[in-house]
Amino acid sequence: MSDAPHNPIDAVDLQTNRPHSARVYDYIMGGKDNFAADRETAATVLADWPGLRTSMLANRACMHRMARYLTGRGVRQFIDVGTGIPSSPNLHEVIQRTAPDARIVYVDNDPIVLTHARALLTGTPEGRIAYIQADMRTPETLLGDATLHQVIDLSRPVALTVIAMLQFVEHAQQVVEALLRPLPSGSYLAITIPTGELAPESERLAREYTDRGIPMYLRGRAEVERLFTGLDLLDPGVVPMPRWQPDPGEEPLPDAATNMYAAVGRKP
Ligand code: SAH
Repeated sequence: MSDAPHNPIDAVDLQTNRPHSARVYDYIMGGKDNFAADRETAATVLADWPGLRTSMLANRACMHRMARYLTGRGVRQFIDVGTGIPSSPNLHEVIQRTAPDARIVYVDNDPIVLTHARALLTGTPEGRIAYIQADMRTPETLLGDATLHQVIDLSRPVALTVIAMLQFVEHAQQVVEALLRPLPSGSYLAITIPTGELAPESERLAREYTDRGIPMYLRGRAEVERLFTGLDLLDPGVVPMPRWQPDPGEEPLPDAATNMYAAVGRKP
């Protein structure tokens, strides 16, 4: 069963005169849900780093590998924060391919993602999917949301997926801690997160976003490892994102072609 969002497009102010991270990302990935301000920002960052799209595609592929890994470990409940505009295949499609009974809660704070929530709510009849609009700078808004508790049973393991999103949050450590706190033993944290330590273009890209009103924070490996405090970091630890459990026969992108680390941990 899928939950229809409350008042889907009610009073949505898309603020099309300034760039939004979800729409800039959408444009770079070849999507259509973006406006002139988003395309201008995307053009600037792409002129500086034409390989960014390749890195973003690798990030989606990493998210898919993580989803398959987690379903393979028996996880049937997922909370995905910073979902983004739908991009095929979406996380729930990858998960429900092998676990049709899985439950997925999608979360984003950008109203344009809300307007597309229907495309995210097309799950299997056995499973359940919901979309919640919430800002992760105040994680308690998500944790207190009635829909979250209707869909996710917090007495059973949950995978928290935070994919290419923490660069938009200044206090990432506090946010991750707050989101993990209510999750029971056997839950997982799966992250991909931008860093300045790999692609040489990364620092400039962060400045270009920041200059256009989308503050972007990069993290070093030690900071990323700290996000997993209290968790068992699973093989292969914090690694350049394409090296996170590549599919057999797959040649991962060189480290300098990507700006992200990836890691998965388990709550003991
Ligand atoms: N996870 C997807 C999309 C990444 S783009 C993927 O990897 O393909 C980052 C997303 O995070 C955008 O959709 C943006 O709207 C969302 N986001 C940024 N700041 C946020 C916040 N404070 N709270 C919730 N979502 C946020």
